Amino acid sequence: MLDAVSTHPFQHIAIVGGGTAGWMTANLLAQRWQSHGIKISLIESADIGIIGVGEGSTPFLRQFFHQLDIPESVWMPACNATYKCGIRFPNWSSVPGYEEYVHPFFNQQDLLTGNEFFTNACLRRRGTDADANPQDFFIAAELARQRKAPLYLPRPVHLETPATDYAYHFDAGLLGQFLKNHAKKLGVLHQIAAVAQVRRHENGDIAQLIMHSGATVNADLFVDCSGFKGLLINEVLGEPFIPYKENLLNDRAIALPTALDSDELPSETVSTALRHGWAWQIPLTNRYGNGYVYASDFVTAEQAEQELRQHLGAAAHNQEARHLKMRVGRIEQHWRNNCLAIGLSQGFIEPLEATALMLIQFSVVNFIAMIEQADFGRSRQAQFNQRINQMFEGVRDYVVAHYQLNTRNDSDYWRANRAHKNISDRLASILEVWDQGGDFEAELTRHGDALMYQRPSWYCILAGMGRFPAKLQTAMGREKAISKVQARAATAEIAKHFYAHRGYLNRM
Ligand SMILES: Cc1cc2nc3c(=O)[nH]c(=O)nc-3n(C[C@H](O)[C@H](O)[C@H](O)COP(=O)(O)OP(=O)(O)OC[C@H]3O[C@@H](n4cnc5c(N)ncnc54)[C@H](O)[C@@H]3O)c2cc1C
Repeated sequence: MLDAVSTHPFQHIAIVGGGTAGWMTANLLAQRWQSHGIKISLIESADIGIIGVGEGSTPFLRQFFHQLDIPESVWMPACNATYKCGIRFPNWSSVPGYEEYVHPFFNQQDLLTGNEFFTNACLRRRGTDADANPQDFFIAAELARQRKAPLYLPRPVHLETPATDYAYHFDAGLLGQFLKNHAKKLGVLHQIAAVAQVRRHENGDIAQLIMHSGATVNADLFVDCSGFKGLLINEVLGEPFIPYKENLLNDRAIALPTALDSDELPSETVSTALRHGWAWQIPLTNRYGNGYVYASDFVTAEQAEQELRQHLGAAAHNQEARHLKMRVGRIEQHWRNNCLAIGLSQGFIEPLEATALMLIQFSVVNFIAMIEQADFGRSRQAQFNQRINQMFEGVRDYVVAHYQLNTRNDSDYWRANRAHKNISDRLASILEVWDQGGDFEAELTRHGDALMYQRPSWYCILAGMGRFPAKLQTAMGREKAISKVQARAATAEIAKHFYAHRGYLNRM
Protein backbone atom coordinates (compact mmCIF):
# COMPACT_ATOMS: atom_id res chain seq x y z
CA MET A 1 0.00 0.00 0.00
CA LEU A 2 1.21 3.48 -0.84
CA ASP A 3 1.30 5.79 2.12
CA ALA A 4 3.34 8.78 1.06
CA VAL A 5 3.80 10.84 -2.03
CA SER A 6 7.51 9.92 -2.08
CA THR A 7 6.59 6.27 -2.74
CA HIS A 8 4.09 7.12 -5.45
CA PRO A 9 5.27 6.73 -9.04
CA PHE A 10 3.19 9.72 -10.21
CA GLN A 11 3.21 13.37 -9.18
CA HIS A 12 0.82 14.60 -11.86
CA ILE A 13 -1.83 12.59 -13.70
CA ALA A 14 -3.41 14.25 -16.73
CA ILE A 15 -6.70 12.83 -18.02
CA VAL A 16 -7.69 13.77 -21.58
CA GLY A 17 -11.48 13.63 -22.08
CA GLY A 18 -14.50 14.70 -20.06
CA GLY A 19 -16.99 11.97 -20.96
CA THR A 20 -18.22 9.41 -18.45
CA ALA A 21 -14.88 7.58 -18.68
CA GLY A 22 -12.86 10.71 -17.89
CA TRP A 23 -14.95 11.71 -14.90
CA MET A 24 -15.30 8.19 -13.49
CA THR A 25 -11.51 7.84 -13.70
CA ALA A 26 -10.93 11.26 -12.16
CA ASN A 27 -13.17 10.41 -9.21
CA LEU A 28 -11.67 7.02 -8.53
CA LEU A 29 -8.07 8.26 -8.76
CA ALA A 30 -8.78 11.37 -6.70
CA GLN A 31 -10.65 9.46 -4.02
CA ARG A 32 -7.70 7.11 -3.65
CA TRP A 33 -4.67 9.29 -4.25
CA GLN A 34 -5.50 12.97 -3.82
CA SER A 35 -4.64 12.80 -0.14
CA HIS A 36 -1.13 11.64 -1.14
CA GLY A 37 -0.59 15.02 -2.74
CA ILE A 38 -0.91 13.70 -6.30
CA LYS A 39 -2.13 16.36 -8.72
CA ILE A 40 -4.92 15.19 -11.04
CA SER A 41 -6.06 17.30 -14.00
CA LEU A 42 -8.77 16.65 -16.56
CA ILE A 43 -8.59 18.35 -19.93
CA GLU A 44 -11.57 18.34 -22.25
CA SER A 45 -12.37 20.04 -25.50
CA ALA A 46 -15.32 22.43 -25.60
CA ASP A 47 -15.93 21.61 -29.27
CA ILE A 48 -15.62 17.84 -29.40
CA GLY A 49 -18.68 16.57 -27.62
CA ILE A 50 -19.13 13.48 -25.51
CA ILE A 51 -20.85 10.41 -26.97
CA GLY A 52 -23.87 11.21 -24.78
CA VAL A 53 -25.33 7.69 -24.65
CA GLY A 54 -24.73 4.91 -22.13
CA GLU A 55 -27.72 4.98 -19.82
CA GLY A 56 -27.78 1.50 -18.32
CA SER A 57 -25.41 -0.18 -15.88
CA THR A 58 -24.57 -3.52 -14.35
CA PRO A 59 -24.81 -4.00 -10.56
CA PHE A 60 -21.14 -3.08 -10.19
CA LEU A 61 -22.01 0.61 -10.41
CA ARG A 62 -23.35 0.30 -6.87
CA GLN A 63 -19.79 -0.38 -5.73
CA PHE A 64 -18.56 2.66 -7.63
CA PHE A 65 -20.85 5.02 -5.73
CA HIS A 66 -20.24 3.16 -2.50
CA GLN A 67 -16.52 3.60 -2.96
CA LEU A 68 -17.02 7.33 -3.48
CA ASP A 69 -19.32 7.42 -0.43
CA ILE A 70 -22.17 8.93 -2.46
CA PRO A 71 -25.62 7.70 -1.39
CA GLU A 72 -28.34 6.88 -3.92
CA SER A 73 -30.48 9.66 -2.46
CA VAL A 74 -27.86 12.17 -3.61
CA TRP A 75 -26.81 11.00 -7.06
CA MET A 76 -29.97 9.30 -8.36
CA PRO A 77 -32.34 12.32 -8.33
CA ALA A 78 -29.56 14.46 -9.86
CA CYS A 79 -29.27 12.04 -12.81
CA ASN A 80 -32.99 11.19 -13.30
CA ALA A 81 -31.91 7.69 -12.37
CA THR A 82 -34.10 4.63 -11.93
CA TYR A 83 -33.56 1.11 -10.63
CA LYS A 84 -32.87 -1.77 -12.97
CA CYS A 85 -33.94 -5.32 -12.05
CA GLY A 86 -32.52 -6.87 -15.21
CA ILE A 87 -32.87 -6.95 -18.98
CA ARG A 88 -35.79 -8.38 -20.92
CA PHE A 89 -35.12 -9.78 -24.41
CA PRO A 90 -38.26 -9.99 -26.56
CA ASN A 91 -38.19 -11.57 -30.03
CA TRP A 92 -34.69 -13.03 -30.01
CA SER A 93 -36.09 -16.53 -30.16
CA SER A 94 -38.91 -18.08 -32.14
CA VAL A 95 -39.13 -21.19 -29.93
CA PRO A 96 -42.70 -21.42 -28.58
CA GLY A 97 -42.80 -20.35 -24.93
CA TYR A 98 -39.40 -18.69 -25.24
CA GLU A 99 -40.22 -15.73 -27.49
CA GLU A 100 -38.90 -13.52 -24.72
CA TYR A 101 -36.86 -14.08 -21.60
CA VAL A 102 -35.23 -12.12 -18.80
CA HIS A 103 -31.63 -11.89 -17.66
CA PRO A 104 -32.34 -10.93 -14.04
CA PHE A 105 -30.17 -9.61 -11.26
CA PHE A 106 -30.35 -11.98 -8.37
CA ASN A 107 -31.99 -11.93 -4.95
CA GLN A 108 -31.10 -13.98 -1.89
CA GLN A 109 -34.65 -15.30 -1.82
CA ASP A 110 -34.28 -16.62 -5.37
CA LEU A 111 -32.67 -19.68 -3.80
CA LEU A 112 -35.94 -21.53 -3.81
CA THR A 113 -37.44 -20.81 -7.24
CA GLY A 114 -34.02 -20.09 -8.75
CA ASN A 115 -32.85 -23.58 -7.91
CA GLU A 116 -36.03 -24.95 -9.42
CA PHE A 117 -35.14 -23.04 -12.57
CA PHE A 118 -31.72 -24.70 -12.80
CA THR A 119 -33.30 -28.10 -12.21
CA ASN A 120 -35.99 -27.45 -14.80
CA ALA A 121 -33.49 -26.13 -17.33
CA CYS A 122 -31.47 -29.35 -16.97
CA LEU A 123 -34.60 -31.49 -17.24
CA ARG A 124 -35.87 -29.57 -20.26
CA ARG A 125 -32.49 -29.79 -21.95
CA ARG A 126 -32.75 -33.58 -21.69
CA GLY A 127 -36.28 -33.81 -22.93
CA THR A 128 -38.53 -33.57 -19.87
CA ASP A 129 -41.50 -31.32 -20.47
CA ALA A 130 -40.43 -28.76 -17.83
CA ASP A 131 -41.02 -25.00 -17.80
CA ALA A 132 -37.60 -23.38 -18.09
CA ASN A 133 -37.99 -19.74 -19.02
CA PRO A 134 -36.09 -17.69 -16.41
CA GLN A 135 -38.73 -14.97 -16.50
CA ASP A 136 -41.05 -17.26 -14.52
CA PHE A 137 -38.59 -18.13 -11.75
CA PHE A 138 -36.70 -15.05 -10.58
CA ILE A 139 -37.94 -12.37 -8.22
CA ALA A 140 -36.35 -9.61 -10.26
CA ALA A 141 -38.49 -10.60 -13.26
CA GLU A 142 -41.63 -10.45 -11.13
CA LEU A 143 -40.61 -7.06 -9.71
CA ALA A 144 -40.15 -5.74 -13.23
CA ARG A 145 -43.56 -7.12 -14.28
CA GLN A 146 -45.12 -5.29 -11.34
CA ARG A 147 -42.99 -2.16 -11.90
CA LYS A 148 -41.48 -2.37 -8.46
CA ALA A 149 -38.11 -1.22 -7.17
CA PRO A 150 -35.64 -3.94 -6.14
CA LEU A 151 -35.88 -2.68 -2.55
CA TYR A 152 -37.64 -4.35 0.36
CA LEU A 153 -40.24 -2.54 2.40
CA PRO A 154 -39.09 -2.03 5.99
CA ARG A 155 -39.06 -5.32 7.88
CA PRO A 156 -39.63 -5.95 11.59
CA VAL A 157 -36.35 -5.31 13.41
CA HIS A 158 -35.82 -8.97 14.29
CA LEU A 159 -35.88 -9.95 10.59
CA GLU A 160 -32.86 -9.45 8.42
CA THR A 161 -33.46 -7.90 5.00
CA PRO A 162 -32.35 -10.31 2.28
CA ALA A 163 -29.78 -8.98 -0.16
CA THR A 164 -30.86 -8.05 -3.67
CA ASP A 165 -28.62 -7.30 -6.59
CA TYR A 166 -29.68 -4.51 -8.90
CA ALA A 167 -28.34 -1.89 -11.26
CA TYR A 168 -29.40 1.54 -12.54
CA HIS A 169 -30.55 3.56 -15.50
CA PHE A 170 -29.52 7.24 -15.69
CA ASP A 171 -29.20 10.23 -17.98
CA ALA A 172 -25.66 10.04 -19.39
CA GLY A 173 -25.26 13.83 -19.64
CA LEU A 174 -26.47 14.43 -16.08
CA LEU A 175 -24.27 11.64 -14.73
CA GLY A 176 -21.26 13.30 -16.39
CA GLN A 177 -22.18 16.66 -14.79
CA PHE A 178 -22.65 15.06 -11.42
CA LEU A 179 -19.34 13.24 -11.56
CA LYS A 180 -17.61 16.39 -12.76
CA ASN A 181 -18.85 18.41 -9.78
CA HIS A 182 -17.88 15.66 -7.39
CA ALA A 183 -14.40 15.26 -8.85
CA LYS A 184 -13.82 19.00 -8.60
CA LYS A 185 -14.85 18.87 -4.95
CA LEU A 186 -12.22 16.14 -4.48
CA GLY A 187 -9.64 18.54 -5.91
CA VAL A 188 -9.44 17.50 -9.59
CA LEU A 189 -8.35 20.45 -11.75
CA HIS A 190 -10.58 20.97 -14.78
CA GLN A 191 -9.25 22.58 -17.92
CA ILE A 192 -11.29 23.32 -21.04
CA ALA A 193 -8.83 23.02 -23.91
CA ALA A 194 -8.27 20.90 -27.00
CA VAL A 195 -5.07 18.90 -27.30
CA ALA A 196 -3.46 19.78 -30.64
CA GLN A 197 -0.06 18.11 -30.38
CA VAL A 198 1.81 15.70 -28.18
CA ARG A 199 5.55 15.64 -27.38
CA ARG A 200 7.27 12.40 -26.46
CA HIS A 201 10.41 11.42 -24.57
CA GLU A 202 13.10 9.38 -26.31
CA ASN A 203 11.83 6.17 -24.71
CA GLY A 204 8.44 6.75 -26.32
CA ASP A 205 6.69 7.97 -23.16
CA ILE A 206 4.40 10.96 -23.49
CA ALA A 207 6.11 14.09 -22.19
CA GLN A 208 3.76 16.97 -22.85
CA LEU A 209 0.37 17.90 -24.28
CA ILE A 210 0.23 21.07 -26.34
CA MET A 211 -3.15 22.77 -26.60
CA HIS A 212 -4.54 24.72 -29.54
CA SER A 213 -4.02 27.85 -27.43
CA GLY A 214 -0.30 27.01 -27.12
CA ALA A 215 -0.61 26.18 -23.41
CA THR A 216 1.20 23.03 -22.32
CA VAL A 217 0.57 20.28 -19.77
CA ASN A 218 3.35 18.08 -18.42
CA ALA A 219 2.54 14.95 -16.43
CA ASP A 220 3.99 11.53 -15.49
CA LEU A 221 0.87 9.57 -16.36
CA PHE A 222 -1.56 10.40 -19.17
CA VAL A 223 -5.00 8.82 -19.17
CA ASP A 224 -6.59 8.64 -22.59
CA CYS A 225 -10.35 9.10 -22.19
CA SER A 226 -10.75 10.74 -25.59
CA GLY A 227 -13.42 8.34 -26.84
CA PHE A 228 -13.44 6.23 -30.00
CA LYS A 229 -10.60 8.17 -31.60
CA GLY A 230 -8.05 7.06 -28.98
CA LEU A 231 -6.10 10.30 -29.31
CA LEU A 232 -3.11 9.27 -27.19
CA ILE A 233 -3.16 5.49 -27.23
CA ASN A 234 -3.90 4.93 -30.94
CA GLU A 235 -2.97 8.15 -32.70
CA VAL A 236 0.15 9.08 -30.71
CA LEU A 237 1.49 5.77 -29.37
CA GLY A 238 0.30 3.74 -32.36
CA GLU A 239 -1.38 1.00 -30.36
CA PRO A 240 -3.37 -1.05 -32.91
CA PHE A 241 -7.10 -1.56 -32.57
CA ILE A 242 -8.37 -5.14 -32.75
CA PRO A 243 -11.87 -5.10 -34.24
CA TYR A 244 -14.46 -7.66 -33.11
CA LYS A 245 -16.17 -7.32 -36.47
CA GLU A 246 -15.93 -11.05 -37.14
CA ASN A 247 -17.86 -11.88 -33.98
CA LEU A 248 -20.08 -8.87 -33.54
CA LEU A 249 -21.63 -7.52 -36.71
CA ASN A 250 -23.24 -4.35 -35.32
CA ASP A 251 -21.38 -1.12 -35.97
CA ARG A 252 -24.00 1.65 -35.85
CA ALA A 253 -26.60 2.97 -33.45
CA ILE A 254 -29.46 5.45 -33.43
CA ALA A 255 -30.60 7.16 -30.23
CA LEU A 256 -34.12 8.54 -29.99
CA PRO A 257 -35.72 9.61 -26.68
CA THR A 258 -39.48 9.46 -26.12
CA ALA A 259 -41.90 10.49 -23.39
CA LEU A 260 -42.89 8.06 -20.66
CA ASP A 261 -46.18 6.31 -21.35
CA SER A 262 -47.37 5.62 -17.82
CA ASP A 263 -47.14 6.90 -14.25
CA GLU A 264 -45.90 3.51 -13.21
CA LEU A 265 -42.22 3.51 -13.92
CA PRO A 266 -40.69 0.34 -15.42
CA SER A 267 -37.70 -1.12 -13.59
CA GLU A 268 -36.00 -3.09 -16.38
CA THR A 269 -34.22 -2.48 -19.66
CA VAL A 270 -36.02 -3.94 -22.66
CA SER A 271 -33.83 -5.04 -25.58
CA THR A 272 -36.12 -6.05 -28.44
CA ALA A 273 -34.72 -7.83 -31.48
CA LEU A 274 -35.73 -6.07 -34.73
CA ARG A 275 -34.93 -7.10 -38.31
CA HIS A 276 -31.32 -5.88 -38.41
CA GLY A 277 -30.32 -5.55 -34.79
CA TRP A 278 -31.99 -4.75 -31.51
CA ALA A 279 -33.71 -1.77 -29.93
CA TRP A 280 -33.14 -0.68 -26.35
CA GLN A 281 -35.67 1.01 -24.12
CA ILE A 282 -34.38 2.48 -20.88
CA PRO A 283 -36.76 4.16 -18.42
CA LEU A 284 -35.53 7.33 -16.70
CA THR A 285 -37.67 9.32 -14.25
CA ASN A 286 -38.58 11.86 -16.97
CA ARG A 287 -38.33 10.00 -20.32
CA TYR A 288 -37.40 6.82 -22.11
CA GLY A 289 -34.00 6.49 -23.70
CA ASN A 290 -34.47 4.42 -26.85
CA GLY A 291 -32.13 3.34 -29.56
CA TYR A 292 -31.38 0.85 -32.28
CA VAL A 293 -28.08 -1.00 -32.58
CA TYR A 294 -27.66 -2.44 -36.06
CA ALA A 295 -25.19 -3.62 -38.71
CA SER A 296 -24.53 -1.26 -41.61
CA ASP A 297 -23.64 -4.23 -43.84
CA PHE A 298 -27.29 -5.24 -43.78
CA VAL A 299 -29.36 -2.05 -43.67
CA THR A 300 -28.95 1.64 -44.47
CA ALA A 301 -29.15 4.34 -41.82
CA GLU A 302 -32.43 5.62 -43.29
CA GLN A 303 -34.03 2.17 -43.28
CA ALA A 304 -32.81 1.55 -39.75
CA GLU A 305 -34.28 4.82 -38.53
CA GLN A 306 -37.56 3.97 -40.20
CA GLU A 307 -37.55 0.57 -38.54
CA LEU A 308 -36.89 2.11 -35.13
CA ARG A 309 -39.64 4.70 -35.60
CA GLN A 310 -42.07 1.98 -36.59
CA HIS A 311 -41.12 0.02 -33.50
CA LEU A 312 -41.65 3.04 -31.23
CA GLY A 313 -44.90 4.12 -32.90
CA ALA A 314 -46.55 7.48 -32.25
CA ALA A 315 -44.21 8.23 -29.33
CA ALA A 316 -41.38 8.82 -31.81
CA HIS A 317 -43.22 11.46 -33.90
CA ASN A 318 -41.34 14.77 -33.98
CA GLN A 319 -38.48 13.32 -31.94
CA GLU A 320 -35.05 13.83 -33.40
CA ALA A 321 -32.89 10.77 -34.02
CA ARG A 322 -29.13 10.84 -33.46
CA HIS A 323 -26.98 8.51 -35.60
CA LEU A 324 -23.76 7.10 -34.14
CA LYS A 325 -20.89 4.97 -35.39
CA MET A 326 -19.46 2.36 -33.04
CA ARG A 327 -15.88 1.13 -33.02
CA VAL A 328 -16.37 -2.37 -31.63
CA GLY A 329 -13.30 -4.23 -30.40
CA ARG A 330 -10.39 -3.45 -28.12
CA ILE A 331 -6.74 -2.61 -27.99
CA GLU A 332 -4.16 -5.07 -26.69
CA GLN A 333 -2.19 -2.79 -24.38
CA HIS A 334 -4.56 -0.66 -22.34
CA TRP A 335 -1.58 0.57 -20.35
CA ARG A 336 1.33 1.32 -22.62
CA ASN A 337 4.37 3.44 -21.78
CA ASN A 338 3.03 6.11 -19.43
CA CYS A 339 -0.43 6.12 -21.00
CA LEU A 340 -3.52 4.38 -19.67
CA ALA A 341 -6.51 4.10 -22.01
CA ILE A 342 -9.91 4.07 -20.33
CA GLY A 343 -13.39 4.03 -21.86
CA LEU A 344 -14.17 4.00 -25.56
CA SER A 345 -10.48 4.63 -26.35
CA GLN A 346 -9.56 1.20 -24.90
CA GLY A 347 -12.41 -0.64 -26.56
CA PHE A 348 -16.12 -1.15 -26.71
CA ILE A 349 -18.36 -4.18 -26.82
CA GLU A 350 -21.73 -3.24 -28.19
CA PRO A 351 -24.14 -2.21 -25.43
CA LEU A 352 -26.38 -5.30 -25.28
CA GLU A 353 -25.49 -6.09 -21.67
CA ALA A 354 -24.64 -2.46 -20.73
CA THR A 355 -21.11 -3.33 -19.69
CA ALA A 356 -19.01 -0.32 -20.78
CA LEU A 357 -19.09 1.58 -17.49
CA MET A 358 -18.35 -1.65 -15.65
CA LEU A 359 -15.22 -2.16 -17.78
CA ILE A 360 -14.18 1.44 -17.10
CA GLN A 361 -14.61 0.88 -13.38
CA PHE A 362 -12.78 -2.49 -13.43
CA SER A 363 -9.92 -1.03 -15.45
CA VAL A 364 -9.34 1.89 -13.08
CA VAL A 365 -9.74 -0.20 -9.93
CA ASN A 366 -7.31 -2.80 -11.28
CA PHE A 367 -4.86 -0.08 -12.26
CA ILE A 368 -4.91 1.40 -8.77
CA ALA A 369 -4.37 -2.06 -7.29
CA MET A 370 -1.41 -2.72 -9.61
CA ILE A 371 0.23 0.58 -8.75
CA GLU A 372 -0.25 -0.01 -5.05
CA GLN A 373 1.54 -3.34 -5.19
CA ALA A 374 5.05 -2.94 -3.89
CA ASP A 375 7.19 -3.86 -6.89
CA PHE A 376 6.11 -1.60 -9.66
CA GLY A 377 7.52 -2.47 -13.07
CA ARG A 378 6.91 -3.59 -16.62
CA SER A 379 5.62 -7.03 -15.57
CA ARG A 380 2.81 -5.27 -13.69
CA GLN A 381 1.89 -3.61 -16.94
CA ALA A 382 1.75 -6.95 -18.75
CA GLN A 383 -0.34 -8.49 -15.97
CA PHE A 384 -2.72 -5.56 -16.03
CA ASN A 385 -3.19 -5.72 -19.78
CA GLN A 386 -3.77 -9.45 -19.64
CA ARG A 387 -6.41 -9.04 -16.93
CA ILE A 388 -8.28 -6.32 -18.80
CA ASN A 389 -8.18 -8.27 -22.06
CA GLN A 390 -9.58 -11.27 -20.23
CA MET A 391 -12.49 -9.12 -19.02
CA PHE A 392 -13.19 -7.83 -22.51
CA GLU A 393 -13.12 -11.34 -23.96
CA GLY A 394 -15.36 -12.63 -21.20
CA VAL A 395 -17.99 -9.98 -21.83
CA ARG A 396 -17.64 -10.39 -25.58
CA ASP A 397 -18.30 -14.14 -25.42
CA TYR A 398 -21.48 -13.65 -23.44
CA VAL A 399 -22.71 -10.95 -25.83
CA VAL A 400 -21.82 -13.06 -28.88
CA ALA A 401 -23.82 -15.93 -27.36
CA HIS A 402 -27.03 -13.89 -27.74
CA TYR A 403 -26.50 -13.77 -31.49
CA GLN A 404 -25.39 -17.36 -31.87
CA LEU A 405 -28.46 -18.57 -30.01
CA ASN A 406 -31.01 -16.47 -31.89
CA THR A 407 -33.62 -18.45 -33.83
CA ARG A 408 -35.05 -15.69 -36.01
CA ASN A 409 -35.47 -16.32 -39.71
CA ASP A 410 -36.77 -13.00 -40.96
CA SER A 411 -33.52 -11.56 -42.33
CA ASP A 412 -30.03 -12.38 -43.58
CA TYR A 413 -28.76 -10.43 -40.60
CA TRP A 414 -30.06 -12.95 -38.05
CA ARG A 415 -29.10 -15.94 -40.17
CA ALA A 416 -25.56 -14.57 -40.56
CA ASN A 417 -25.31 -13.94 -36.83
CA ARG A 418 -26.23 -17.53 -36.14
CA ALA A 419 -24.28 -19.17 -38.93
CA HIS A 420 -20.84 -17.66 -38.55
CA LYS A 421 -18.32 -19.75 -36.70
CA ASN A 422 -15.96 -16.93 -35.70
CA ILE A 423 -16.43 -17.53 -32.03
CA SER A 424 -13.83 -18.13 -29.35
CA ASP A 425 -12.83 -21.70 -28.49
CA ARG A 426 -14.31 -21.12 -25.07
CA LEU A 427 -17.75 -20.12 -26.34
CA ALA A 428 -17.67 -22.93 -28.90
CA SER A 429 -16.92 -25.39 -26.13
CA ILE A 430 -19.70 -24.07 -23.84
CA LEU A 431 -22.28 -24.38 -26.62
CA GLU A 432 -20.98 -27.78 -27.66
CA VAL A 433 -21.19 -29.23 -24.15
CA TRP A 434 -24.72 -27.86 -23.70
CA ASP A 435 -25.86 -29.19 -27.07
CA GLN A 436 -24.25 -32.60 -26.70
CA GLY A 437 -25.64 -33.25 -23.24
CA GLY A 438 -22.21 -33.12 -21.57
CA ASP A 439 -21.47 -32.07 -17.99
CA PHE A 440 -22.39 -28.39 -18.22
CA GLU A 441 -21.54 -27.59 -14.59
CA ALA A 442 -18.03 -28.99 -15.05
CA GLU A 443 -17.65 -27.01 -18.27
CA LEU A 444 -18.51 -23.73 -16.55
CA THR A 445 -16.25 -24.56 -13.61
CA ARG A 446 -13.40 -25.33 -16.01
CA HIS A 447 -13.49 -21.77 -17.35
CA GLY A 448 -13.71 -20.20 -13.88
CA ASP A 449 -13.56 -16.43 -13.38
CA ALA A 450 -12.40 -15.82 -16.93
CA LEU A 451 -16.03 -16.17 -17.97
CA MET A 452 -17.10 -12.84 -16.42
CA TYR A 453 -20.69 -14.11 -16.60
CA GLN A 454 -21.24 -16.95 -14.21
CA ARG A 455 -23.48 -20.00 -13.98
CA PRO A 456 -26.91 -18.29 -13.52
CA SER A 457 -26.37 -16.03 -16.51
CA TRP A 458 -25.40 -18.95 -18.79
CA TYR A 459 -28.42 -20.98 -17.76
CA CYS A 460 -30.66 -17.93 -18.26
CA ILE A 461 -29.45 -17.28 -21.79
CA LEU A 462 -29.41 -20.91 -22.96
CA ALA A 463 -32.75 -21.90 -21.48
CA GLY A 464 -34.21 -18.41 -22.01
CA MET A 465 -33.58 -18.60 -25.76
CA GLY A 466 -35.15 -22.07 -25.79
CA ARG A 467 -31.93 -23.84 -26.78
CA PHE A 468 -33.05 -27.42 -26.21
CA PRO A 469 -31.23 -29.57 -28.77
CA ALA A 470 -33.55 -31.92 -30.60
CA LYS A 471 -31.22 -34.90 -30.32
CA LEU A 472 -31.34 -34.78 -26.50
CA GLN A 473 -35.13 -34.75 -26.39
CA THR A 474 -36.13 -38.12 -25.00
CA ALA A 475 -39.61 -37.19 -23.76
CA MET A 476 -39.26 -38.34 -20.18
CA GLY A 477 -42.52 -36.91 -18.78
CA ARG A 478 -42.62 -34.07 -16.28
CA GLU A 479 -42.58 -35.70 -12.88
CA LYS A 480 -39.84 -33.71 -11.08
CA ALA A 481 -40.44 -30.25 -12.52
CA ILE A 482 -42.35 -27.44 -10.83
CA SER A 483 -44.59 -25.46 -13.14
CA LYS A 484 -44.18 -21.82 -14.08
CA VAL A 485 -47.53 -21.16 -12.42
CA GLN A 486 -46.17 -22.42 -9.10
CA ALA A 487 -42.92 -20.51 -9.56
CA ARG A 488 -44.68 -17.28 -10.45
CA ALA A 489 -47.00 -17.60 -7.45
CA ALA A 490 -43.95 -17.99 -5.18
CA THR A 491 -42.11 -14.98 -6.63
CA ALA A 492 -45.30 -12.87 -6.56
CA GLU A 493 -45.65 -13.64 -2.87
CA ILE A 494 -42.15 -12.32 -2.23
CA ALA A 495 -42.66 -9.31 -4.53
CA LYS A 496 -45.41 -8.08 -2.17
CA HIS A 497 -42.64 -7.01 0.19
CA PHE A 498 -41.08 -4.53 -2.25
CA TYR A 499 -41.64 -0.82 -2.90
CA ALA A 500 -43.45 0.47 -5.98
CA HIS A 501 -40.74 1.92 -8.21
CA ARG A 502 -42.22 5.36 -8.89
CA GLY A 503 -43.40 5.79 -5.31
CA TYR A 504 -39.97 5.00 -3.91
CA LEU A 505 -38.18 7.38 -6.28
CA ASN A 506 -40.68 10.16 -5.60
CA ARG A 507 -40.02 9.88 -1.89
CA MET A 508 -36.28 9.84 -2.54
C1 LIG B 1 -25.10 3.30 -28.78
C2 LIG B 1 -24.35 3.20 -27.50
C3 LIG B 1 -25.02 2.78 -26.36
C4 LIG B 1 -24.33 2.64 -25.16
N1 LIG B 1 -24.98 2.17 -24.07
C5 LIG B 1 -24.30 1.92 -22.93
C6 LIG B 1 -24.93 1.43 -21.77
O1 LIG B 1 -26.13 1.20 -21.74
N2 LIG B 1 -24.17 1.21 -20.67
C7 LIG B 1 -22.83 1.48 -20.64
O2 LIG B 1 -22.19 1.23 -19.62
N3 LIG B 1 -22.22 2.01 -21.71
C8 LIG B 1 -22.90 2.23 -22.83
N4 LIG B 1 -22.26 2.78 -23.91
C9 LIG B 1 -20.86 3.18 -23.79
C10 LIG B 1 -20.75 4.52 -23.05
O3 LIG B 1 -21.51 5.48 -23.72
C11 LIG B 1 -19.30 4.95 -22.98
O4 LIG B 1 -18.51 3.90 -22.52
C12 LIG B 1 -19.14 6.10 -22.01
O5 LIG B 1 -20.00 7.14 -22.33
C13 LIG B 1 -17.71 6.59 -21.97
O6 LIG B 1 -17.39 7.31 -23.12
P1 LIG B 1 -15.97 8.04 -23.14
O7 LIG B 1 -15.91 8.95 -21.97
O8 LIG B 1 -14.93 7.01 -23.29
O9 LIG B 1 -15.98 8.87 -24.50
P2 LIG B 1 -16.76 10.21 -24.91
O10 LIG B 1 -18.05 10.37 -24.22
O11 LIG B 1 -16.76 10.21 -26.40
O12 LIG B 1 -15.81 11.40 -24.39
C14 LIG B 1 -14.65 11.76 -25.09
C15 LIG B 1 -14.07 13.03 -24.47
O13 LIG B 1 -12.80 13.29 -25.05
C16 LIG B 1 -12.68 14.65 -25.32
N5 LIG B 1 -11.69 14.86 -26.38
C17 LIG B 1 -11.59 14.21 -27.57
N6 LIG B 1 -10.56 14.71 -28.28
C18 LIG B 1 -9.99 15.67 -27.52
C19 LIG B 1 -8.90 16.57 -27.70
N7 LIG B 1 -8.16 16.59 -28.82
N8 LIG B 1 -8.61 17.44 -26.70
C20 LIG B 1 -9.34 17.46 -25.55
N9 LIG B 1 -10.37 16.64 -25.35
C21 LIG B 1 -10.70 15.77 -26.32
C22 LIG B 1 -14.10 15.07 -25.74
O14 LIG B 1 -14.28 16.47 -25.60
C23 LIG B 1 -14.92 14.28 -24.70
O15 LIG B 1 -15.00 15.04 -23.50
C24 LIG B 1 -22.94 2.95 -25.10
C25 LIG B 1 -22.29 3.41 -26.25
C26 LIG B 1 -22.97 3.52 -27.44
C27 LIG B 1 -22.23 3.99 -28.66
